[in-house]
Amino acid sequence: MSIKESGHHFIAIFGGAVAGAEAAFQLSKRGFRIVVFDQAPLPFGKIEDGLPKWHYKLRDKEEANINEKIDQENIVFVPGVKLGRDLSFEDVLSWGFSAIILATGAWKDRPISIEGIDAYIGKGLYYQNPFVYWFNHNHEPNYSGPQFEIEDKALVIGGGLASLDVVKIIMIETVQKALKARGIEEDMFSLEHGINKVLEKHNLNLNDLNIEGCTLCYRRREIDMPLSPMATTTPELLEKAQLVRQKILDNFQKKYLFHFEPCVIPVDKIVEGEKLTGLRFQRTNIVNDKVIPDDDFMEIKTPLVISSIGSIPEMIQGIPSSGGIFKISKPESCLIDGFNNVFAIGNAVTGKGNINESIKHGREITEEIMETHLEWHQEDYENWHRQTAMKVTKEINTIIETIENQKFLSDGVIQKILDQTEALQTKTGYNGNYKKWVELNTPPRLETML
Ligand SMILES: Cc1cc2nc3c(=O)[nH]c(=O)nc-3n(C[C@H](O)[C@H](O)[C@H](O)COP(=O)(O)OP(=O)(O)OC[C@H]3O[C@@H](n4cnc5c(N)ncnc54)[C@H](O)[C@@H]3O)c2cc1C
Repeated sequence: MSIKESGHHFIAIFGGAVAGAEAAFQLSKRGFRIVVFDQAPLPFGKIEDGLPKWHYKLRDKEEANINEKIDQENIVFVPGVKLGRDLSFEDVLSWGFSAIILATGAWKDRPISIEGIDAYIGKGLYYQNPFVYWFNHNHEPNYSGPQFEIEDKALVIGGGLASLDVVKIIMIETVQKALKARGIEEDMFSLEHGINKVLEKHNLNLNDLNIEGCTLCYRRREIDMPLSPMATTTPELLEKAQLVRQKILDNFQKKYLFHFEPCVIPVDKIVEGEKLTGLRFQRTNIVNDKVIPDDDFMEIKTPLVISSIGSIPEMIQGIPSSGGIFKISKPESCLIDGFNNVFAIGNAVTGKGNINESIKHGREITEEIMETHLEWHQEDYENWHRQTAMKVTKEINTIIETIENQKFLSDGVIQKILDQTEALQTKTGYNGNYKKWVELNTPPRLETML
């Protein structure tokens, strides 16, 4: 495309997943030119690496959505470029973009607040994000990422849906391995439909397999778990929501046979030699929705702790931050402090995602919906993705106003952006044919390998 056809504003978006693709698409519809940079070969973010691979239908649907949004004439895609590693923020500023949008998500695990515990990562301690990445990709013949060993009697620290995914992965893998040792082959998808059903089919139970099961440790009660996007604005609605949460957890336990330890916070590590061998917990009470630590302590010995207490955005040198998140100019804004054209959107803003919004606007769930909801929580993920996209729509309007107030870029600046993006594309071997690139780089899928 020549400079004349190109429009007079050029916008850089870092991260091309749910939030970045939505922003790029909306800006492209308004006639702007956009470069979407992603650190990965494909811009699928949490959909590819965080959503467990048993949700393969949802994954394919969401990825097709992203592809449709990014494959536009006025969007240039640049894979394999990580802001802060392959390209500094300072460099990007010097290219002269009309605006820079960070849609880099929340990939860093929130650290457990026990001093020195991170020295035991890989020696009895794992964090959720790399663990789920491994689970999603380890079947690929060329997989070269981190390796994880799952052990029975693991402790999972958490309480949200992501921690239930971790629990499911542990139980599925442990039971699958034990069945295999008895000569019974069961694939991951059957086990995901219910470990209880698979064991019943073979007339077995966990005892027969010599498995105790993992334990989910949560600082609140089961009725407080953020498992359902229901309104809790009146005592009646709260009671209903608590009943649903309890039912969701009961249903999960029935299907995946794990243990639950409510009202505990990990406060210290137990170490033997080089290895983390347990945790010391403080019990809590929940008073007026607040977690109040008790004087009661206990220890649990375990061969493996997996922390699933949330994800936070990874900070990038040169971009102002405060308390581990990007510093925003004022609450509710997406403008980065100290700049007039640098924005953060999607999970990159707080890392909290928009589950709170979902709860705030939560619908009343009828008994009928409640039953289907308990069976399958795909709709939660879909709801999150739609909420992320809806939030981006609101944010993008503010961003467009700002861009329209900027001076047009000169032909020289536009040409320089085109040349530099092309050089980066050439470096990664991407020739601009997005469809072909997706075809070539989509990893082999487990469901087609069985
Ligand atoms: C297990 C799990 C739990 C979830 N929990 C929640 C939740 O609690 N609340 C909620 O609202 N939603 C949640 N979701 C839904 C989902 O995460 C979001 O709705 C949505 O996917 C976030 O989209 P995003 O584009 O902001 O971030 P991501 O999907 O994380 O995408 C970020 C993109 O940026 C790229 N990137 C990152 N850093 C850089 C860099 N420096 N340079 C270039 N590219 C970069 C990544 O490769 C990625 O493609 C969850 C999803 C899963 C799978």
